[in-house]
Amino acid sequence: MRLLLVEDDDAIAGPLVKGLGREGFDVERVGTGEAALATDRPDLVLLDLGLPDLDGYEVCRRLRSDSDVPIIVITARGDEVDRVVGLELGADDYVVKPFGFRELVARIRAVTRRAASTNDDGDEDDPVLRAGPVEVDTRTRRASVDGEEVTLTRKEFDLLALLARDPGATRTRDEILEEVWDAHWYGPTKTLDVHVASLRKKLGDPTLIETVRGVGFRLGTGS
Ligand code: CA
Repeated sequence: MRLLLVEDDDAIAGPLVKGLGREGFDVERVGTGEAALATDRPDLVLLDLGLPDLDGYEVCRRLRSDSDVPIIVITARGDEVDRVVGLELGADDYVVKPFGFRELVARIRAVTRRAASTNDDGDEDDPVLRAGPVEVDTRTRRASVDGEEVTLTRKEFDLLALLARDPGATRTRDEILEEVWDAHWYGPTKTLDVHVASLRKKLGDPTLIETVRGVGFRLGTGS
């Protein structure tokens, strides 16, 4: 899936390109509105409204005028959201700065899913991740162990979903902090350990989430 990121701020664009690449998106990044309009049709556009050349609204309107490519607007101004996603601009969704990386990915997937079902594509990824006794439904955001639903906080769920995407694979602490917390997480990494501890407790089997010392964590497959 080709994703066009229109963002002039390197400090925001850099980590986003990296993170989205790791999520499996093929990302092209441009820093101006003119460059965005000159780009070959992507599958989805992430559009920052504050651009150095053209007005972001104008870019959105022009993109929309000759294609129905899904557009997610990135705005620093929460009060303008109604204009953005309303009839005036026709964007599909928005995120308000500062936003978390997981939130953005969730929006991208939701918008893509909506676009796909409108196109009657029908070829969706299975939203349910499985690892041994653990089942994570990324669509309904429900998790269960041995069929018993467990109630998780938002971060606990995101953390479990990340590990469950590739059972047995070790995720580094940096990777987890960046993906579950924020692309710009500079806070104490103890937060991660606190969440792992509470997640282990809720899953009922502390061995499900294995600590890989000095590296990170992985989800065992319960064998
Ligand atoms: Ca900007």
